[in-house]
Amino acid sequence: MKQTIRNAKCLVIKIGSSLLVDNSTGAIHRKWLTSVIQDIKTCWERGQQIVIVSSGSIALGRRHLQLKNRTLQLEEKQAAAAVGQIKLAHAYQEILEQHNITVAQVLLTLDDSENRKRYLNAKNTLETLLNLRAIPVINENDTVATAEIRYGDNDRLAARVAQMVSADTLVLLSDIDGLYTSNPRFNPGATLIPEVTQLTSDILAMAGDSATEFGTGGMITKLAAAKIALTSGCKMVIAPGKHLNPIARIDETRNCTWFIPETTPMSARKNWIAQHLKPTGSITVDAGAANALRHGKSLLSVGVIDIEGEFNKGDAIIIMSENKQEIARGLTNYTSHDAKKIKGHKSSAFEAILGYCGCDEIIHRNDLSLHLGEKN
Ligand code: GLU
Repeated sequence: MKQTIRNAKCLVIKIGSSLLVDNSTGAIHRKWLTSVIQDIKTCWERGQQIVIVSSGSIALGRRHLQLKNRTLQLEEKQAAAAVGQIKLAHAYQEILEQHNITVAQVLLTLDDSENRKRYLNAKNTLETLLNLRAIPVINENDTVATAEIRYGDNDRLAARVAQMVSADTLVLLSDIDGLYTSNPRFNPGATLIPEVTQLTSDILAMAGDSATEFGTGGMITKLAAAKIALTSGCKMVIAPGKHLNPIARIDETRNCTWFIPETTPMSARKNWIAQHLKPTGSITVDAGAANALRHGKSLLSVGVIDIEGEFNKGDAIIIMSENKQEIARGLTNYTSHDAKKIKGHKSSAFEAILGYCGCDEIIHRNDLSLHLGEKN
């Protein structure tokens, strides 16, 4: 099947510093960024959801602070990021708002993807923004991130974001066309690989150790991003970013490398819930709720009969039928403590009982994996 940007439902687009920031002046390439946003607008008008992951804060800030031509200390990088990030956000806001598109800045740290509670918080915020048709512009929160707690490169950050929002397509705009059989800068015989379906050791060896002056992401971090994307059921494309309208060009020229997963984002997520998380408690549901789950519905509190174990928001829990057979696993939106309080009640009563207005569902259908033999 031909891979296209046009057919994606949810796109995460990573824009690197070396494309965005002029190497000689240290300013943003306005004309280029305007053309990227034109492409993004076309996607947005088709109804596609878009997330931008943009680097550039350190490259912009170091120039402004006149910290050029030397290796920066951590504190200097953090200071440069603080100065540069605000410039970066302004540039996106100015251009996107000319098209009447709302832009939202989200700065993430490694913990936001590695700690489940924070992961769910970030995921819910991003999904809410997307449902409101805003375009989140994401970067790492470089001002507070130190070496041990950093992603360090926005290729992997973008892949984690794609996983978080269950995106089906991740676009890495790069300063080269895609993955070559060997480094084309040194080997004129190197050829572009149009499609990769498995990250074999041969493919990984093709990455070499390419790096650019401004960006931190060479081909190695792009393949690390591909690994995250493919296990999350998300396609990834490495495409040349230097031309104007680089996103429109992907479908026009097909001069790029597509990485194709074996699964979809939804089944990858359900598989992760079912196979890789250790349940910390269980919920027993009545026959009506069990039936609703089998028909692809979320777990609501009205159908809950019993709650066992101690669990936190975001934990994996087992769902059992009245006769104590496991029927599903899922990620809970409530702690065991709060779930006990709202058990059997309608969501309209939650605020009065809990003192806060939480989710309508105990477990959302996207966070549920039905047991083997059950319909999923
Ligand atoms: N977060 C860094 C910045 O905005 C860039 C990381 C990268 O280049 O991948 O400067």
